[in-house]
Amino acid sequence: MPAVSTVLVVGAGLAGAATAIRLAEAGVAVDLVEIRPEVAALGSGITLQGNALRELRTLGVWEQASAAGYAFDVTGIRAPDPAGSVVAEIPDARTGGPDLPAVMGMSRPELARILTDRAAEVGVKVRLGTTHTELRQDGAGVDVAFADGSTGRYDLVVGADGLRSWTRRALGIELETRPIGMGIWRAFGPRPASVTRTDLYYGGPSFIAGYCPTGEDSLYAYIVEPAQDRSTLTPEEQLATMRRLAEAYHGPWDDVRETLTDPSRVNYTWFETHVLPAPWNRGRVVLIGDAAHTCPPTIAQGGAQALEDAYALTDLLLTRPVLDQDLWDAFTARRFDRARTVVEASNQLAQWQLDHVRGDIPGLMRSVAQLVSQPA
Ligand SMILES: Cc1cc2nc3c(=O)[nH]c(=O)nc-3n(C[C@H](O)[C@H](O)[C@H](O)COP(=O)(O)OP(=O)(O)OC[C@H]3O[C@@H](n4cnc5c(N)ncnc54)[C@H](O)[C@@H]3O)c2cc1C
Repeated sequence: MPAVSTVLVVGAGLAGAATAIRLAEAGVAVDLVEIRPEVAALGSGITLQGNALRELRTLGVWEQASAAGYAFDVTGIRAPDPAGSVVAEIPDARTGGPDLPAVMGMSRPELARILTDRAAEVGVKVRLGTTHTELRQDGAGVDVAFADGSTGRYDLVVGADGLRSWTRRALGIELETRPIGMGIWRAFGPRPASVTRTDLYYGGPSFIAGYCPTGEDSLYAYIVEPAQDRSTLTPEEQLATMRRLAEAYHGPWDDVRETLTDPSRVNYTWFETHVLPAPWNRGRVVLIGDAAHTCPPTIAQGGAQALEDAYALTDLLLTRPVLDQDLWDAFTARRFDRARTVVEASNQLAQWQLDHVRGDIPGLMRSVAQLVSQPA
């Protein structure tokens, strides 16, 4: 018997969808509430490292995900020179095991659709366009009121509602995320034939310019700059700004730049970071994924860490007989140091660039790869 019979999961991102799927598959009654009216709306791409792919396989969605995504095993480093010269070709570690690719790019909406379809298939009750308005817990459960006027009582509430978690606030946890001083332009568009893997261009007028294929016909491209207030730009001005910054980058970037024509596919956001000190639960409410820890995507591990949280939490809930302090201690032991290490490494990589310091990037990447190669 699992430690819980009824669970409310808040947020249908990677952490929430994965938690809901694993629990429902094992017979737990799961409600999944998502504040957005639809999960697969317009969005950008995501780079999934091997350890994220391993989690997708445990969720039973590897076949669909790999059919939709674009896998590769080498990352190129290119110079911001007129030829976009290749400086290095670095084999990516197969952190999910030898039978999975090292890296796969995917469209975020497509990944969200695959996960929510799987959730519905295994019996999760997915409720879109709503959220909780009140959580009141006692020793035996959590009473929840929802924005649509309904109520429920659950053995456990999982707050997987992202960086600005409403559940975290409902628990009275004061936590400010910290902007790290970088902003990123991202665009989703068609994949030119010249783009067959991620290439990173370090230097030039921006910190990094790169791209990642997300399918046979799609990619996302990005340019990281010092954080600035870009909120007053119209979509057309945003597109023009990204195109102008991209002019410094060549090789396949020349082809990518030509595809940057749709203002609705360009987006700008700041990098932020935080780690919630352990424990991540307050009684019968627990925070996972970005609600508990967030890193700048310098190693592309945020999504993987969210999936790992879901795996470790559900593994404990399904193999322990009761939801007690031992279970929470075991969750902290499995997740806290690992997630914090990844956040700190991601912050360090960003800081070296901000300070224009030549740090030991390969050494740091290797140590993170070794860490996340171990199952969560
Ligand atoms: C610019 C950028 C690029 C990134 N690139 C990568 C990458 O390439 N690879 C990678 O692994 N990671 C990347 N990350 C990190 C990654 O996106 C996150 O770590 C990951 O999405 C976290 O998953 P999550 O499920 O915890 O949160 P989220 O993905 O944020 O999902 C939270 C969900 O909760 C919903 N929600 C919010 N509030 C409520 C509420 N009150 N009630 C109900 N639902 C609610 C949201 O709508 C959302 O669906 C990137 C992050 C940024 C900012």
